[in-house]
Amino acid sequence: MSPYEIRIIGDPILRSVATPVSEIDGTVAKICEDMLATMYEAPGVGLAAPQVGIQKRLFVYDIGDGPQVVVNPILAEGDGEWVFDEGCLSIPGLSWEIVRPREVHLTGCDLDGNEISIETDEYEARVFQHELDHLDGVLLIEHLDDDQRKEANRILRQRETLRESPSPTSAGGGIRLP
Ligand code: ZN
Repeated sequence: MSPYEIRIIGDPILRSVATPVSEIDGTVAKICEDMLATMYEAPGVGLAAPQVGIQKRLFVYDIGDGPQVVVNPILAEGDGEWVFDEGCLSIPGLSWEIVRPREVHLTGCDLDGNEISIETDEYEARVFQHELDHLDGVLLIEHLDDDQRKEANRILRQRETLRESPSPTSAGGGIRLP
């Protein structure tokens, strides 16, 4: 079972700006370990602290080269444009073709306090941009055009209604396990 519950769109913490990590200590290391476990369980390729209710500027990711942690990341956007069908663990089941810069330069530090500097493009660059958005309280919805956003809001409202309406079959939360 995941150490953390992933916060879903509608949760105000996803809209707030996270604060820098002042000291990398055992607590921060434990948060990252638990975030990685939560990310793998989901499964996802990246997870930012606000998505598990922690307003700190850090994120974890693994795009196939093993688990990585970036603390206090700063992102400089580079050249080009790149389209990618992007989804988010906090907006389950939905994804959109989104255009963003193709190249980025990420700086920050790892859990040992060593400086990180990564110049990358396409998929990895997209993961970095997505996670940085989370640290600034920005969700994918903000990258959609008007028509896409209307459609997204319609689907999300519909889900909300389904969740709120009491149904006799789901009352009590279903089967209880010990
Ligand atoms: Zn996301």
